[in-house]
Amino acid sequence: MAKGNRNNNKNRNRRSDYGGGNQQKRFTEQVKDCTYKDGITVKELAEKINKSPAEIIKFLFMMDKMVTINASLDDETIQLIAMQYNIEITKEEEVDVNSLEDTEEDNPEDLEPRAPIVTIMGHVDHGKTTLLDNIRKTHVTEAEFGGITQHIGAYQVEVKGQKVTFLDTPGHEAFTAMRARGAKMTDIVVIVVAADDGVMPQTKEAIDHSRAAGVPMIVAVNKIDKHNANVDKVYSELADYDLMPEEWGGSTMFAKLSAKNGIGISELLEMILLQAEMMELKANPNKMATGTVVEAKLDKGRGPVATLLVQNGTLRTGDMVVAGTCIGRIRKMTDDKGMEIKSAKPSTPVEIIGLDSVPEAGDHFKAFENERLARKIADERNQQKIEAERRTTAAMSLDDLAAQIKEGNIQDLNIIVKADVNGSAEAVKSSMEKINVDGVRVNVIRATAGAISESDIMLASASNAIIYGFNVRPTAAIKKVAEENGVSIRLHNIIYKALEELEMMMKGMLAPVYEEVVTGQATVKQTFKVSKVGTIAGCMVDDGVIKRTSSCRLIRDGVVIYTGNIGSLQRFKDNAKEVSAGYECGLTIEKFNDIKEGDIIEAFESQEVKEA
Ligand code: GDP
Repeated sequence: MAKGNRNNNKNRNRRSDYGGGNQQKRFTEQVKDCTYKDGITVKELAEKINKSPAEIIKFLFMMDKMVTINASLDDETIQLIAMQYNIEITKEEEVDVNSLEDTEEDNPEDLEPRAPIVTIMGHVDHGKTTLLDNIRKTHVTEAEFGGITQHIGAYQVEVKGQKVTFLDTPGHEAFTAMRARGAKMTDIVVIVVAADDGVMPQTKEAIDHSRAAGVPMIVAVNKIDKHNANVDKVYSELADYDLMPEEWGGSTMFAKLSAKNGIGISELLEMILLQAEMMELKANPNKMATGTVVEAKLDKGRGPVATLLVQNGTLRTGDMVVAGTCIGRIRKMTDDKGMEIKSAKPSTPVEIIGLDSVPEAGDHFKAFENERLARKIADERNQQKIEAERRTTAAMSLDDLAAQIKEGNIQDLNIIVKADVNGSAEAVKSSMEKINVDGVRVNVIRATAGAISESDIMLASASNAIIYGFNVRPTAAIKKVAEENGVSIRLHNIIYKALEELEMMMKGMLAPVYEEVVTGQATVKQTFKVSKVGTIAGCMVDDGVIKRTSSCRLIRDGVVIYTGNIGSLQRFKDNAKEVSAGYECGLTIEKFNDIKEGDIIEAFESQEVKEA
C-alpha cells in the first residue's frame, strides 16, 4: 500500500511539474482552504474538500480503514485522502509567534547528552581572553584549525573525549543583552579573579548576573604565578559573596590558574566536566533546531552572517530559519573551525549565511520545515516589533511590575540598591529583604556604594529590577539610559521613607482587596411611575448618607430583592450628589423598577482595604 501511495504522489507531482495541470487546477480552484488543524473530523475534511463524508468513508473502507463521520483523522490518513483526490492539503501548525523558544516537551527517550555551554566572566584584565585563548589553543589541534583562526563568538573543545562549548563573549554587555531578551544560553559561568587584584566591581557584577540567572559558578583564581598573588585574600573576599571553596567548607569549585603559563587549566576543565555531569545536560537532536543568536554582523561579501548556538534539535543546511525578526534559508553553515558542515547538533555553535537581515545577539531562532509558516511568523514578529517600537517602552515601569504581580507572574521583586556608602547599602538591603507582603518577596540582587551606573541599569533591565538610590543622584545621561530601557529609579535620602514607599508600592501592586461599606439606608415612602424614567422612589433617608454614585440593595421584608446601582438621585426637583439622614429624596435604581412602598434601600460602596 505504501508503494502505491508513493506512486500516486509521484504522479501528482509530475502532473503539476509539467503544469499539466488542468486537473490540478480544477481541484485547486475547488478547494479554497487547503489547510487543516489537528483533530479534523471526516465531516469537516469532507466539507473542506467538497466531497461527501460517505465518499470519504467508503474510500477509507477500501483502504481497510474503518471510520465514522465524526472520527478525527490522523495526518497520514488525511494525506491519503488528499492523494486520492489529487489535492494539496497541509497542516496548520499551531505556533506562537510571540516566541521562537522551544516549548515542546521532549520524550525522555529522545534525549541525548549534550555539551555544557560555558561563559567566562570577570573583571577587566583579570585574564578572561588569555584563558579562552589558552583553552582554545591547547584543546583544538592545528589540523582542526586548518590554519584558519576565525572568531565566531563561540567555540567547542574536546576534553577527555567530551565536548565543552565556550561562549567567547567576555564582557557583560553581551550577557546582559542576552538576558534582556530572556535567552538562557549558559549552563556554567567561570568567574575569573586575578590573584594579585582580588574581587573588583565587575567580579561582583559577574556574580550578580550569574545568581540572577540561576547559573552555577566555578571560580578561577588566575595569575597565581605573580609574586604578589594572594589566593587566600581572594578566597576570603569571595566568601563575602557566599562563594566558598570546599576546603573552606563551602560548595563552590575553585581552580587556581596561570592562564598565561597554561597552569591549572586542565583542572579547571575537569571541574567544568564535573559540574556538567551533575547537571545531566540533555537535548533532543531528532527535531528541527531551536537556539540563540550569539552574534551577527553584515559581511560585505556574504551578507548577513550570524553565529547561532543550537540548543535543541538539529540544524541543517537548507533549513528555513526565523531568528528574531529575520528569516532565510541556510545557504551555508560552518563550524567554529571554519569547516563547512551540513548539520549541527545541540550545544554546537555554527556560523550561517542566508538570513535576509542581521538579527541581534540574544535573539532566539527556530528552524521550520514549512516555509509558508516561517514567513507568516517572521512577518507577524516584524509587525509586533514595529508596534513595540512605536509604543514608548516602559517595560519595567512600576505600573507594569504591578500588573505583572497582579497576574501572579512575579513573586520576587528584584531591587538594586545604590548608596553613598557601603554600610548603608547593606543596611538597606537587609531591611528591604525583611519586607514581606503576601505573595511578593524583595530580592536585592545588588547592593553597592557608588553612583547609579549604566551597568546598574543594564542589570535592572535584564532582571526586571527597580533601582533604589540613597544619597546618590543619577546624571542626566544615566537617567536617559534608564528611560530608554524602561528602568525605574527611586531616589531617597532617608532609609525608612524608602522602606515605607516600597512596602506601600508592594501593597498597591497586589490586587487590592475591597470591602463593602454600607454608607446609608432609606425607606421608600411612595413610588411614581414615569415613562422613559421608570419607577421613582420617594424616600426618607433614615441613616448615614445615600450617594448618587453608590451601589444599592433593595430589601423587602429582610430579603435582598435586587442589587445594583443608584440610577439617579434628587432633592426636590434637582439632581443631588448625596442626601443625608433626616432628608427626603427621590431616587431610581438602574435597570430595576419593581420598587414598592415600605422597601428599604441600602446604599453601599466598595472600599480598598489597605493591608496592615
Ligand atoms: P581580560 O581583560 O580579562 O580578557 O584579560 P586579558 O586576558 O586580556 O589579560 C590581561 C593581562 O593579564 C594581559 O597582559 C595578560 O597577558 C595578563 N595575564 C593573563 N593571565 C595571566 C596569568 O596567569 N599570569 C600573568 N602573569 N599574567 C596574566
